[in-house]
Amino acid sequence: MSNGTTKIVIVGGGTAGWMAASAFSRTLGQHASIRLVESEEIGIVGVGEATVPHIKAFNQLLGLNEAQFVARTQGTFKLGIEFRDWRRKGDTYVHGFGSMGHDIGLVPFHQYWIKGRLRGEAADLLDYSVNTVAAMRGKFMPAPVDVPPSNPLGSIAYAYHFDAALYARFLRQFAEERGVRRTEGKVREVETNPENGYVTAVRLENGDRVEGDLFIDCTGFRGLLIEGTCQSGYEDWSHWLPCDRAMAVPCAKVGPPTPYTRSTAREAGWQWRIPLQHRTGNGYVYSSQYLSDDEAAATVLGNLDGVALADPKPLRFTTGIRRKAWMRNVVALGLSSGFMEPLESTSIHMIQSGISRLLQLFPATGDIDPVLVDRYNEQSRFEAERIRDFLILHYKATERDDSAFWNHCRTMPIPESLQANIDLFRHSGRFFRNAEEMFGLVSWVQVMVGQGIMPTGYHPLVDQMPDADLVKFLASVREVVSKNVDLMPAHEQFIARECPAP
Ligand code: FAD
Repeated sequence: MSNGTTKIVIVGGGTAGWMAASAFSRTLGQHASIRLVESEEIGIVGVGEATVPHIKAFNQLLGLNEAQFVARTQGTFKLGIEFRDWRRKGDTYVHGFGSMGHDIGLVPFHQYWIKGRLRGEAADLLDYSVNTVAAMRGKFMPAPVDVPPSNPLGSIAYAYHFDAALYARFLRQFAEERGVRRTEGKVREVETNPENGYVTAVRLENGDRVEGDLFIDCTGFRGLLIEGTCQSGYEDWSHWLPCDRAMAVPCAKVGPPTPYTRSTAREAGWQWRIPLQHRTGNGYVYSSQYLSDDEAAATVLGNLDGVALADPKPLRFTTGIRRKAWMRNVVALGLSSGFMEPLESTSIHMIQSGISRLLQLFPATGDIDPVLVDRYNEQSRFEAERIRDFLILHYKATERDDSAFWNHCRTMPIPESLQANIDLFRHSGRFFRNAEEMFGLVSWVQVMVGQGIMPTGYHPLVDQMPDADLVKFLASVREVVSKNVDLMPAHEQFIARECPAP
């Protein structure tokens, strides 16, 4: 470090690089000078287009204007994810964001629903959440500011779909306006201090040398600094999450954009559908052990609802995490820190949480102490393992037996941590969210139930409500949700009105 100003060098200008540059330039002020090196020739992966509601906190940190952000990225709003054919063919459920029904004291709503369902007196779980009902009816609006807590409209939670290339461009402008210096060029060599292995500079193909104190590796799957230089090592999780390829194809927009992402289970993986204002993103995430690239391309092309706008783009990955995301003076963010398939749109969120962790543990001048580094790595691992378990749940809890892929998933061993959560939920619908865990109770409940894990019991306090009142309570929640969704505008209408093109 020099003169109390940390020289931060971000290598890579995809979503991770520009998110980091934007957040640092907004928060670190005079404590840091920020340079970003990227290579147009290498380009970006360009496929991360669906997010989770936490991204709103990131946008707030940057002070972005939502309407402008949505218009400039051809964005749409996302209330949740529809899962088709996951439990079995023909079956559909929705993981909606936000809360569900109406908790009573300490007892969450879904406990009342379980009792009603076990007695044959409750409808589908998705009927009790404003997010899921609105999603299925193509409606959208944010929670009004002045609604009382009892009104379900107050519990609307949402994220965005956006064009990844436009998002990187949008953030680039934001960061450059706040002093981030961008350097175009390919890193040819990484220089290190022979005494401690710290990275001192990156040298570009044109001979330029960019020096720094703290290096942020945002070089994508390559992990140029974290692996190439620091040799962190990679922990492979593909025995639990066997998909290792994707075939991505954008197609022309047909009809109004849905306010949700769709995930349809296929023979050897699943296909995403992400609606944007100007096109629809599609892709088949699959396991190369069970399907060839040609078969994957044919399947995704045969299942588009609009004309393909490009040839299928193949992508390869290995699910897992870098053993240490922070080593010496290198912190990996984005794909360089590891990757889990986009089933629950967790990657961009993990970039955001990595940035936030780093800002919380930001080292003082010249003091990259192991106490900071270790805590960063411990928290990153905790977050990744909980997300991993949540993703595995979708595969493991299936009744599908129509392909070798699904037979493998249904019968594979799973982490003990996940098995313990499934056992507790099956017993009486209970679940514990540990601190800093990304997905909360309502998410786990919707996916457990959606995948067919129906509890055999419920919390004993539910019995304090007389049976006749329980039926009335469930019916009234359902009715109030439905009536409130009636008041919401169509998603496309909302975008046209509130987020007009610049
Ligand atoms: P990249 O976009 O690959 O950027 C790497 C950068 O490093 C580029 O700028 C490149 O030029 C630069 N670079 C590399 N080497 C050098 C070098 N030698 N010199 C100079 N520069 C260099 N996430 C979600 O949250 N939601 C989703 O819906 C989603 N869908 C996905 C679907 C698929 C199939 C895949 C594979 C990923 C998906 N992701 C999703 C993840 C998401 O795409 C990434 O998290 C996000 O795009 C961040 O990528 P990145 O910036 O780490 O890497």
